[in-house]
Amino acid sequence: MQRYFVDSDAIGPDRVTIRGDDVHHIKNVLRMSPEDRLICCDGQGRDYLTEVESIGTDEVRCRIIDSSPSPGEPGVRVSVASSLPKGDKLEWVLQKGTELGADSFLPFTSARTVVKLDGKRAAKKQIRWQRIVKEAAEQSHRGRIPPVELPGNWRGLLEKFPSYDRVLFAYEKEGQSLADALKGAVGRRFLVVIGPEGGFTEAEAMEAASAGAVPVHLGPRILRAETAPLAILSCIFYSYGEMGGEPL
Ligand code: SAM
Repeated sequence: MQRYFVDSDAIGPDRVTIRGDDVHHIKNVLRMSPEDRLICCDGQGRDYLTEVESIGTDEVRCRIIDSSPSPGEPGVRVSVASSLPKGDKLEWVLQKGTELGADSFLPFTSARTVVKLDGKRAAKKQIRWQRIVKEAAEQSHRGRIPPVELPGNWRGLLEKFPSYDRVLFAYEKEGQSLADALKGAVGRRFLVVIGPEGGFTEAEAMEAASAGAVPVHLGPRILRAETAPLAILSCIFYSYGEMGGEPL
C-alpha cells in the first residue's frame, strides 16, 4: 500500500490532511479516488492506515482507520559518515543506505576529498539529498526519514564521536575484522566512517583512533567509497537480526 510521510501537525484525532507534492502524486500519478486506502506515517515511527475522503486542489483529506508502530525501523541505530565521493555516488549511498535502515547521514570532507562544495551549493545539495532519502524511506517502509546533515569537516566529525556507543572507522590498511568489532560492541548506536576514493591519511587514522573510533577492515578486497558503507550497514543489520532471522 502506498505510504506518505506527513508532518505531525497534519494528523488530527480522526483525520490526516496531506499537503504539498504528495497531493500531485495521489491525484495525478496514482489517480486515487475517495475510499482508496493509503498509509500516512508521522516520521516518528507511527503509521496511520487511512481511507481517502476527499481530494482537493491543494490537499487530500483522509479518515484514520487504524494506527500502529511503523514496522520498518531497525532496533539498532547506524549513522553513516561518508567523505564526499565524486559525482552522484553519495546519492546512491543515501538511497540504498536508507533502504537498508541507516539512521542518519553525515557527509564530510577529509584530506583527500576531491569534491568541493561552497555553502550555497551545499545547501542546495542538502535539499536534494533529503528528498532522495524521503522517497527511499517511503518506498522501503521506514518509519522515519533519516536526516542528512550539511557537509562538515573532519575536525567537526571527530567531535561528534562521543555521541555514539561505537564508532567504526573503515580502514583498509589495518584494524579488527568487522565481526570482531561487532562482538565487542556495547550499546546500539553506531557511527560508520568511510573515506573518499583516495582513502584516509595515516594522520586521520591516528586522530580517529585517539577520538575513540575502532578501526575495522572488511577483508582483502578494496571496496569503492560507495560500496563500503552499504556493505557495513548490511553486515551490522544482519548480525543484529534486522534482515530476518535471529541475531548472531
Ligand atoms: N585509496 C584506497 C586504496 O586504494 O587503497 C582505497 C580507498 S576506498 C576506495 C574508499 C574507502 O572505503 C576507504 O577509505 C575505506 O573507508 C573504505 N574501504 C574500502 N575497502 C575497505 C576495506 N577492505 N576495509 C575497510 N575499509 C574499506
